[in-house]
Amino acid sequence: MPKLLAAIKNQIPFTRYAYRGEAVACNLCGSHHRLSISQTDRRLKILKTVACEQCGLIRTDPMPTESELGTYYAGEYRLDYQFAFSSKPPRFHLRRSRRDAAARLALLAPALSGPKRLLDFGSGSGEFLALAARAGHDVRGIEPGESFAAFARNAYGVTVDSRVWQQVEFAPGSFDVITSNHVLEHLREPVSALKRMAEWLAEDGVLFVSVPNALGKRRHSFQHFHFAHVYNFTPQTLIWAGQIAGLEPDPRFAMAGTTIVFRKRKGGASIPVWGEEQGRWMAAHFEPSSPLRFLLSGRWFVDALHRFRKVAGESLARG
Ligand SMILES: [Zn+2]
Repeated sequence: MPKLLAAIKNQIPFTRYAYRGEAVACNLCGSHHRLSISQTDRRLKILKTVACEQCGLIRTDPMPTESELGTYYAGEYRLDYQFAFSSKPPRFHLRRSRRDAAARLALLAPALSGPKRLLDFGSGSGEFLALAARAGHDVRGIEPGESFAAFARNAYGVTVDSRVWQQVEFAPGSFDVITSNHVLEHLREPVSALKRMAEWLAEDGVLFVSVPNALGKRRHSFQHFHFAHVYNFTPQTLIWAGQIAGLEPDPRFAMAGTTIVFRKRKGGASIPVWGEEQGRWMAAHFEPSSPLRFLLSGRWFVDALHRFRKVAGESLARG
């Protein structure tokens, strides 16, 4: 079973992922200047991560090509990432997804009075779409993972487009609410995707974006990076990405780290002032240490065990 073999290979520390990649400019500011942050990911596999020297946005370098990412997502991704052994979403995933969907819908309540046109960009297995449809909204999803898109259609009867976002067309202003939950960090062109979402958004619409926070409580570079996350955001770089897309945080909603509800900027898009030393500050933020020392410290094992127990525990719990 090639998928399983690939997923097992992806667990072996100090080996490379099966990709060549290519050098790319920073998707936020266009700079090619970069500073090294880490040589390994959170499994201690070899994966080089850099921060853009100008704006501080973190990315994988070299960047996997579109076709390499496509191969990864079509192949071992769900197994690698969520221990999904069949095409059906695992029970622990569905439990978490339902919980997240309820929280997202509650957060967006101020923007959801009356039936709204709603798009979930990266709708996964469809729990948020299902919940929003039940609340009376007109919902659509985009989800390039065909098995999860098919699950959403079959289980919940919702409309999901399984093409990649670059191929999807909607008229400008088609949606009152757009959400994108843990999606941008997977994309090679996250800022371009935000721009597209901003075009699809109605003038008084809101756009919910949530991504992992690179400045979260895990400060050690060996505890962060993952092959599937080709960009890593901080609250600042996410706000800047929104600004370039013609968006600003909507003051009706409290910002919580890298979970932000945006609205359209009245003045349209603009170029942020990057400040100084963004990249250097970012590079200094992550504790430098040798991967071997980290391995021997036992923290790697504790983290791996924690991840495994979380998945196994949630799988065994009553669904
Ligand atoms: Zn940059």
